[in-house]
Amino acid sequence: MIRKEYICKDCDFKFERTVFEEEKEVLCPVCGGNNIELVVREEKKPANCSISSKYT
Ligand SMILES: [Zn+2]
Repeated sequence: MIRKEYICKDCDFKFERTVFEEEKEVLCPVCGGNNIELVVREEKKPANCSISSKYT
């Protein structure tokens, strides 16, 4: 059982699916589009932390 995270490139909706095998096609639950991109989870990076920390 694999938990995968997808993002719809049409409406930017992010959702998770629990799949047992590779799914051939994933449809967006919001707009029904198939322009879905698999989000690859990586180790947490402090990349977004440097935006607003300058003015403290
Ligand atoms: Zn969508």
